[in-house]
Amino acid sequence: TFKAWVVEKGAGGQSLTFRDFDEADFMDGDVTVRVTHSGLNYKDGLALTGRSPVVRRWPMIPGIDFAGVVETSDDPAYRPGDTVVLTGWGVGETHLGAYAEKARVNGAWLVPLPAGLSAEQAMAIGTAGYTAMLSLMALEAHGLTPEHGPALVTGASGGVGSVAVALLARAGWHVIASTGRDAEADYLRGLGAAEIIDRAELSVPGKPLAKERWAAAVDAVGSTTLANVLASTRADGAVAACGLAQGMDLPTSVAPFILRGVALLGINSVTTPQPKRREAWARLAAELDLDKLAAMTTRVGLQDVDRLGEEILSGKVRGRTVVTIA
Ligand code: NAP
Repeated sequence: TFKAWVVEKGAGGQSLTFRDFDEADFMDGDVTVRVTHSGLNYKDGLALTGRSPVVRRWPMIPGIDFAGVVETSDDPAYRPGDTVVLTGWGVGETHLGAYAEKARVNGAWLVPLPAGLSAEQAMAIGTAGYTAMLSLMALEAHGLTPEHGPALVTGASGGVGSVAVALLARAGWHVIASTGRDAEADYLRGLGAAEIIDRAELSVPGKPLAKERWAAAVDAVGSTTLANVLASTRADGAVAACGLAQGMDLPTSVAPFILRGVALLGINSVTTPQPKRREAWARLAAELDLDKLAAMTTRVGLQDVDRLGEEILSGKVRGRTVVTIA
């Protein structure tokens, strides 16, 4: 057996317990990993608290990402002792997840630890940071460069937002960081933000078209905020939509699309095919300033995970949280 956080569904709703888990109860997979680090993501908050139905199999070990060392492998691509990283693929939702000493997964889901990153740094980046890189790659693939104008990041003090600010600034963008937390202005400037705006400017319903303010945006917030982000995007600019911290809805009009040629780029980190996944990790290893990564990272132990679900959903967690397991 090994130690794991386990969510179960009973008559009284969802329960979360830290207990022994039997390897005999593992789901199918061809690689067994000794998990050394996990991360805390918004979706982990949803799974830990049951706030949204992201868990679709019971019992479930929550935790959507991990780094660790291969123990046994029937996949010829991996050998015992290899350090690997996993994000997405329904781990922590439909497949037993990361908040445990061990995980069994499909080798095809894994990425070898990128050269230049430790397992802890990989999870400091985690699903959130990897999603920030996918967002930057989508904006670049659309043809946008810092010469086109500023880049906005919403939910800037959160996990996706903090990494997005650091990556865009390093790539030469004039970064405008939108946050609800005044107290984090110095933190965001330290990551590379050139301007800070109050998220209240974007979170209440606005006009279908507003003054053109940014050429590109990474939006972790959705809902009315995303509608306003689109309305203030410059002609032929683009917005990478990756989150729903304000809500899943999108009360917009076609005006930004048909009158300004603005593009809305969807980002899905869960089932990204391997080549793009590896490109994103290689770029993170090469382009993310590790001092900035350290500045946005908080470390916790596996025992602390249960209290963090509520904290991340209430927007109180700054930057990234690494869960140290071994
Ligand atoms: P996080 O650390 O909690 O960051 C979310 C941030 O959004 C908060 O820190 C806060 O930033 C802001 N926010 C929270 N509630 C808000 C509200 N009601 N109105 C406006 N802003 C609000 O979470 P995360 O792990 O970075 O994830 C961010 C979002 O991206 C989540 O919705 C998550 O599900 C999504 N996501 C999607 C993918 C994908 O594959 N598409 C992958 C990873 C994450 P400030 O305090 O600075 O305002």
